[in-house]
Amino acid sequence: MILFCPQCGQPVRQRIPAGDNRQRGVCDACGYIHYENPRLVLGAVIEWQGEILLCRRAIEPRAGLWTLPAGFMENGESTDAAAARESWEEARARIDQAQLFTLIDIPEINQVHVFYRSFLRDGRHAPGEESLETALFSETRIPWPQIAFQSVRLTLEHYFKDRRAGVFGQHRLLLRQRTAGRLASRPPRP
Ligand SMILES: [Zn+2]
Repeated sequence: MILFCPQCGQPVRQRIPAGDNRQRGVCDACGYIHYENPRLVLGAVIEWQGEILLCRRAIEPRAGLWTLPAGFMENGESTDAAAARESWEEARARIDQAQLFTLIDIPEINQVHVFYRSFLRDGRHAPGEESLETALFSETRIPWPQIAFQSVRLTLEHYFKDRRAGVFGQHRLLLRQRTAGRLASRPPRP
């Protein structure tokens, strides 16, 4: 929610603009209407010789816990480019063969998390500024109790399930954060 108009600097009012059905920040001085929309988080599952690359977070939220490289998509970027950029920024990892893997709606926090699956290009990785360390984990050594986010956990669970089955799908998931992590999983449309 904004308090002042980014266009003219006057205070904005919260009201439903004409022809709309939701409250917005509206500037009566210049007519600016502030729309807030969900944000996209892009990340990657990165495999190298059967192991998966994780980063230990240096920053809040969930500092000290493990995650897949992921972060907010930037303007002017494609989703696969965002996943590749986050992989580089957080884990100094170059990725190849990126394929769309999970799309996770989290309406309660106004976010959509999208993960690609990919392969590490050359085996090299190192912590970026937002990571304390990076490491490759086999399926049996994934630190499940120290995984930072539900969307990461779900993505990893689907990854290992699909890999065992020998076929990777695309998974559209709905995450309800405030209901104790319960979720509904829908298979992709044929
Ligand atoms: Zn204004």
